Amino acid sequence: MTELPDGRLYLAGQWVAGEGAEITSIFPADGSVNQVLKGASAAQTDTAIEAAARAQSDPAWRGMKPHERARLLTRIADGIEANIARISQIQSRDTGKTLRETAALAGSAAGTFRYMAAALETLDDTLTVPRGDYLTMSVHEPLGVVGAITPWNSPIASDAQKVAPALAAGNAVVLKPASWSPLTALELARIIEGAGLPRGLFSVLPGSGREVGNRLVEHPLVRKISFTGGTATGRVIAAQAAAKLMPVSLELGGKSPTIVFADADLDLAVAGILYGIFSSTGQSCIAGSRLFVQRAVHEDFVARLVAATRRLVVGHPFDAQTQVAPLIHQDHREAVAGHVARAVADGAQVLCGGAAPDEAALQKGSYYLPTILSGLPNTAALCRDEVFGPVLAVLPFDDEDDVIAQAEDNAYGLACGIWTRDFPRAYRVARAITTGTVWINTYKQFSISTPFGGEKDAGLGREKGREGIRAYMAQKSLYVDLTGRPHPWARL
Ligand code: NDP
Repeated sequence: MTELPDGRLYLAGQWVAGEGAEITSIFPADGSVNQVLKGASAAQTDTAIEAAARAQSDPAWRGMKPHERARLLTRIADGIEANIARISQIQSRDTGKTLRETAALAGSAAGTFRYMAAALETLDDTLTVPRGDYLTMSVHEPLGVVGAITPWNSPIASDAQKVAPALAAGNAVVLKPASWSPLTALELARIIEGAGLPRGLFSVLPGSGREVGNRLVEHPLVRKISFTGGTATGRVIAAQAAAKLMPVSLELGGKSPTIVFADADLDLAVAGILYGIFSSTGQSCIAGSRLFVQRAVHEDFVARLVAATRRLVVGHPFDAQTQVAPLIHQDHREAVAGHVARAVADGAQVLCGGAAPDEAALQKGSYYLPTILSGLPNTAALCRDEVFGPVLAVLPFDDEDDVIAQAEDNAYGLACGIWTRDFPRAYRVARAITTGTVWINTYKQFSISTPFGGEKDAGLGREKGREGIRAYMAQKSLYVDLTGRPHPWARL
């Protein structure tokens, strides 16, 4: 069994005991306690932020050439890659995700650091076109201290998505992981420390959102918050940031539509839809949780989907056969079950799932069966609200206009899936939907080189891609006189 981080916080280059509220990390497969640790206090958060500001303004860091900073990021990527098995074990214990998935997430985190190193070395500043006898250029500076606040569902990947570009841009970062999954980010701190990042530039402070998260958002030395989490929390942070006139990136929730036209390759569609909603046990912001099927194939398609769903293997995260692992926490399972109970009260038919599994071996874990519900209108609570669990609503549609109208009639705008063999139609629908990402004949594919983010209640701003670094930089314009003559207005 992999040894877990020892529960101390990584505060400005030191491993220290927390002085804030207690946090309990639980293994969701059986409810056993991974670790009880003390989170950071507001005072410790202040200490980390002040140390970050000092380290960030040190000329040794501020003046470091991009290719030298890139070398550091590459060493972090190497460190993650060398520890994939260990990170994967820790993250699976922290979150209950399968080892296969957490190994992939760790690999993608390494790829994120490597990509941001390459982007950093190759991004140019620009000479702009002058309208007088001067040279003008647009350059970029770091923002200062960045606060990164992440959720529990994919810790190492969402941490890397913020920490890599923020450090690449020359900032210091204080990272607050979610209280249900505090351990993975502490392991990332060990790796970053081992890669030789100057002390103070990076801290990991598990702790409560209200204490540590709120302090990060409010502290005057923090100049940007990069947040991934729920929409309600995102709104609170955005309002606080507005008062400070501080930029924020918000990656929030979703209720993403997936659309199957009658001409689609139905095997392709069944596989994509299963993966889109039931992988990660539905605990994914981009989960395709509202399925629209064209009326002509609705009955046949839903029957195939339900049969395939019943064959999914629900089981222990360490079992290589498992496709659907437990939910993060018993409280979250209760919340998911509550959504289903309300849907049934609203008239939904449960086509499969709708309960915890019966197997004796799974009774101690927070498991929930993959669930498909039909018979609800698009206006029902289950079709509007994010469940963040393995629950799919299926709805029929008539034609292109009808499905665009139904898909659009939702507060979120994070992702969308379209299955059809008619490419012009796929393109039309993709362009018509208000959303950050559209997958055509596939779903939930990801690449660090492709920007990601949401529209409407799904968020603000984009992460990833070469331009992702720019979100952690301030643009500055320089004008340089080329005449050597006093300005004529002065009449010298
Ligand atoms: P929350 O919004 O509750 O929490 C996210 C993070 O914010 C946690 O670290 C939490 O700390 C912290 N936090 C809570 N309150 C505050 C506050 N007032 N000020 C500052 N920080 C605060 O979301 P969940 O952790 O429950 O994550 C699930 C949500 O995240 C889902 O809605 C999902 O859609 C969204 N998500 C979005 C993604 C995207 O890329 N768009 C990706 C993954 C998830 P603590 O844990 O201590 O409460």
